[in-house]
Amino acid sequence: MPSVTDPAIDYAFDRQHIWHPYTSMTQPIATQGVVSGQGCQLTLDDGRNVIDGTSSWWACVHGYGHPEIITAMQQQLHQLSHVMFGGITHKPAIDLSKALVNMTCPALTKVFLADSGSIAVEVALKMALQYWQGRNKPAKQKIMTVKRGYHGDTFAAMSVCDPDGGMHTMFGDNVTKQVFIPAPQTPFGFSPLQTSAEDANNTLDKADLDALIHAFATHHQQVAAIIIEPIMQGAGGMRFYSPAYLTKLRQLCDDYDVLLILDEIATGFGRTGKLFAYEHANIQPDLLCLGKALTGGYISLAATMCSDEVAKGISDSPAGVFMHGPTFMANPLACTAATASLQLINQQLWPTQIASIETQMIAELAEAIAFEQVKDVRVLGGVGVIEMHHTVNTAELQQAFIAQGVWIRPFSNLIYIMPPYIISTDELTQLTTAMKQVAASITAPQIHSDAEFISHG
Ligand code: PMP
Repeated sequence: MPSVTDPAIDYAFDRQHIWHPYTSMTQPIATQGVVSGQGCQLTLDDGRNVIDGTSSWWACVHGYGHPEIITAMQQQLHQLSHVMFGGITHKPAIDLSKALVNMTCPALTKVFLADSGSIAVEVALKMALQYWQGRNKPAKQKIMTVKRGYHGDTFAAMSVCDPDGGMHTMFGDNVTKQVFIPAPQTPFGFSPLQTSAEDANNTLDKADLDALIHAFATHHQQVAAIIIEPIMQGAGGMRFYSPAYLTKLRQLCDDYDVLLILDEIATGFGRTGKLFAYEHANIQPDLLCLGKALTGGYISLAATMCSDEVAKGISDSPAGVFMHGPTFMANPLACTAATASLQLINQQLWPTQIASIETQMIAELAEAIAFEQVKDVRVLGGVGVIEMHHTVNTAELQQAFIAQGVWIRPFSNLIYIMPPYIISTDELTQLTTAMKQVAASITAPQIHSDAEFISHG
């Protein structure tokens, strides 16, 4: 048996025995062995370094090997790595929850600490349903959401994922039928195709307005909550949409007694240029889901926050308590990592970092719009996207990117980056150059030979 420090990767064992996200065990995808990470660079098992353009799926915003997070975790590991949370509390959970309550909007006062983004979404949906039980509106059993959304892989989370995207067909009646609105259309952020920045930023397209009003007027009596990824739909197409959409949504939720759940698992902690994406619209949600960058990617942890009113409604429900309590709830090691990560966020370097990443990506990616196979180029905050006309071959392009010294993993027809906030100008130029070269090299539609399903944004 290899020791845990042996860098040799047993690819044959990996292929035969280990699931990867959205893969087949009979037609395994190509995997790349990674042995370490430092700053924005991952070191591969053959000794090459690649710049991580994905922050490991939005999570590693401070880069790898950050001394402050590591030291905090090491100390906590020696003190108390895990303890149950039933009838016990501890400083790591309290410190983290204080930070979250302080950083988020005043409406959000209560914190539920779970272990993954999907569970943060499950918790939010369950809270919304229990709330209306406590407010004597038991008919409010449905969740409303928009098409092209992605909220996770567990059953309730799947039920609010895009209904046409594969999540629903495999599991039949086990996936609850929810109420879907068309995906938001009113654009936001930079695109060389936009004619007027003002149009893009301030006015809600009539189609969006009509769809929202119709959905609330028709379904409000059965709808407990609406869940949406604010400002940016991630896995559903890396689509940015107008803050005006969220402003209208908040107003309709108030008018029709529907709770507003924002899924900021990807957008939270600065990624879109605001600490939380709801700040673009100056609104406050009733419930907020956080994950990914919460711990800077150092360990799995997620949070669901809610208002006093939601918490009171849950207490008034027949159960009297919130019906959820996982084993690793508020794990002290994870809470410590999150508090250390949020301390770095609170040092306020991220606004300048994200602003310069955005400016540089606009300057360097815009020209890709001229390439034959490119349909659109979009930039918002620390997210840069080249949308192709056709689906690309993920496995093939992954290799092309590694050959250029970068780690970028396209999906569907999208080549996109959301680099660590600490990325240097030179490293970012390497990423955007690779994106343009690879996009330019695609001259004909590619066949998507990879078994991996479009999922993680
Ligand atoms: N919501 C959004 C918006 C996400 O991007 C993701 C993860 N890609 C999730 C929920 C699910 O989080 P997790 O993978 O940690 O379960």
